[in-house]
Amino acid sequence: MKTVYVDSNATTRVAPEVFEAMKPFFQDLYGNPSSMHFKGGEAQRPSAEAREKVADLIGASLDEIIFTSCGTESDNAAIQGTLASYPDKRHIISTRVEHPAVWTLCKDLEKRGYRVTMLSVDREGRLDLDELRAAISNDTALVSVMYANNETGVIFPIEEIGQIVKSRGIPFHTDGVQAVGKIPLDMKKSTVDMLSLSGHKLHAPKGIGVLYIRRGTKFSPLLIGGHQEKGRRGGTENVPYIVGLGKACELAARHLEEENSRVRLLRDKLEQGLLERIPDTLVNGDREHRLPNTVSLSFEYVEGESILLLLSNLGICASSGSACTSGSLEPSHVLRAMGVPFTAAHGSIRFSLSIYSTEEEIDYILEELPPIIEKLRDISPFWRDYIKASSKQ
Ligand code: PLP
Repeated sequence: MKTVYVDSNATTRVAPEVFEAMKPFFQDLYGNPSSMHFKGGEAQRPSAEAREKVADLIGASLDEIIFTSCGTESDNAAIQGTLASYPDKRHIISTRVEHPAVWTLCKDLEKRGYRVTMLSVDREGRLDLDELRAAISNDTALVSVMYANNETGVIFPIEEIGQIVKSRGIPFHTDGVQAVGKIPLDMKKSTVDMLSLSGHKLHAPKGIGVLYIRRGTKFSPLLIGGHQEKGRRGGTENVPYIVGLGKACELAARHLEEENSRVRLLRDKLEQGLLERIPDTLVNGDREHRLPNTVSLSFEYVEGESILLLLSNLGICASSGSACTSGSLEPSHVLRAMGVPFTAAHGSIRFSLSIYSTEEEIDYILEELPPIIEKLRDISPFWRDYIKASSKQ
């Protein structure tokens, strides 16, 4: 069976060049970069080169890059590290559509006595910046707003948000996990103080991330231990993965244009083709301000899980906008926050492409998905009710 992988916002395959670059660091160049002997040097120099490649991709300086274990750690370090630096401030502002790495942490902070404002979004997944302005107070320790949404691909106006936040002298963090490598970023020209990224979203392995921290930003480490990362993240460096991430960032910089031209065209072909072939299909999120690789579609009156399973039987890997929790199919908090109707939220599917996606793969989905939806609607009680109701009008 062929595999058509269109779930790149969940994770990506490790690029062959990345895998090759990492290999020597498991068995030959296995030194600890902190060691004084030559084996330490063998690991230290490539780690420093990798730091340079990461910094280049996002327009940062070398000392602004901290290697972490994943995007979740970077988000936790940014938020908890800032709160620890401002112990007198008890308020944080974020959004209702964050990834659980931020969203669940915010819920937890609320339980620990912090006041958390979760900004709402409209039907297109856009923020109301007046709500942000009104929420900021003297007690606000941090504003954390994601760069691009993992489910819909909607890109927030991060620089505009940053200007509002910085004009009040408040630290500004953005979860850039889905944005880095897909759209150009330049921290030198940015208002962002802290940015999280994750290797496995850009063809590096799972288990490596970065927290960018602008020089001069107050920060207390989450992992307290050795002097690694200039005392800002204890723990012996994961050299093979750091080297892999460096290579992945070098490749991402090279592929940025392709991501925004060829991949965008493929995504548009998929979206347009499905809208034309399948009635009662909606696009979730602002189509204008969106990652080039992502589309979230709702197929009314069918369940996303059923679509996914039938697609998976044909070798097509996508993801749905609902999660099976405690026996009930609960639509994702992102689609709920956007006010997507119940019947549409349940039938939502996210397709996320990568530079490895091909036109042949898109044609295959366009051929296979319409009959799946038709078949599921034939057996769906929601659909039967809908047909009955519309025939009475
Ligand atoms: N933030 C966003 C927007 C994500 O999409 C993800 C992963 O899906 C994360 C954070 C967490 O990254 P990691 O899996 O590296 O912990």
